[in-house]
Amino acid sequence: MPHQLRLIRNDVAPAPTFQTGWVPTVRILKMEPKYFQAFIESLDKFGRVYAPVRRNGVLTWDTPERFEEIVLGGEHTMIPVKKLFHPMRFDMFRFDDSGFTPDYSSSEKRVIVGVPPCEIHSLLRLDEVFMERPVDPYYAQQRRDSAIIGYSCLPGENCFCRSTGTDIVEEGFDLFFVNLGEFYLVWVGSSLGHDMVLVHEDFFDDSVSHDDIKKYIAWRKKRDGMFKKSFDFRSMPDLMELSYESPIWEGFAERCLSCGQCTMVCPTCNCYNVVDVLDISSATSGRRERHWDSCMFVDYSLVAGGHNFRGARAERLKLWYTHKLRAYASEYGKPACIGCGRCVEACPVDINVLTVAEALVTMEVPAR
Ligand code: SF4
Ligand code: SF4
Repeated sequence: MPHQLRLIRNDVAPAPTFQTGWVPTVRILKMEPKYFQAFIESLDKFGRVYAPVRRNGVLTWDTPERFEEIVLGGEHTMIPVKKLFHPMRFDMFRFDDSGFTPDYSSSEKRVIVGVPPCEIHSLLRLDEVFMERPVDPYYAQQRRDSAIIGYSCLPGENCFCRSTGTDIVEEGFDLFFVNLGEFYLVWVGSSLGHDMVLVHEDFFDDSVSHDDIKKYIAWRKKRDGMFKKSFDFRSMPDLMELSYESPIWEGFAERCLSCGQCTMVCPTCNCYNVVDVLDISSATSGRRERHWDSCMFVDYSLVAGGHNFRGARAERLKLWYTHKLRAYASEYGKPACIGCGRCVEACPVDINVLTVAEALVTMEVPAR
């Protein structure tokens, strides 16, 4: 309701929840669609703009060459936005006899446009992993350097974020645009977002009416009715615990190719490996490289001496699903799955959160 919409002045705003500076209470504005393009184009003042764009036929997070390239509000990128914060590969530092020099060159001031609610939740999950003790300085730097411009979406064929409680987001963005067709509602979630609004204050309208709120509620209701996939997440932690020795894991393992695609596309997967690469001319200088790893790979748990703690595919599958459906929820009270449906699309043999959830209930591996 309009009288509940409060303007939070920067000097009295509650303390930020992270170094990134989100505030849990927000200002809500309106914008007419005719201003949207000019506003997005003005954001390059705050950093290099990234958005979902098509490259070689694949939707990906990249720098758009022009506004028309940006794809907003529906289809998700193949690789999630995590790649901008937890890069697939980068150099951590150079070393030699005298010590090491950190390399933060992969970080830059950025404005990431079009982040859907579930992916904002995925970044908040990654914050819990990388920004608590010990803080990962590389991730923290990318986070500090990045502004998040969220954008509402309508569920795709495989989305089930309503089941994981990640279809709506209340923090973790600087601005969030809800596209209601005839106008946008714009949530301002940080002082940086407020600064962005000030650049083009004339594009925004402070007076959100009762009718506008009704339109937003109707949009939410319509969107809720569009989900085609769901599962009962609340029952998963118990079922995972009870089914740890179930034959369903062997059934899934017979199919699994250990390709790791499920982990690569998952917005909350964060495993990595580090490798020291020596300079050709020296045995004591070089660089430390960090790259994505996957707990689905056979050598993921291989240790010195040749012992492999999870040499069997069934063990690796159990590890992943325990993490997604039970362990993370026990630690943080929410699932590590944000319901994006990417594993549904990526796995070539139909092993994903939905088929595993079904098997945990029926005790049978669903047919392909
Ligand atoms: S487990 Fe699957 S649906 Fe859940 S966040 Fe990861 S890729 Fe998305
Ligand atoms: S579950 Fe599917 S995507 Fe994941 S490693 Fe096995 S075959 Fe690959």
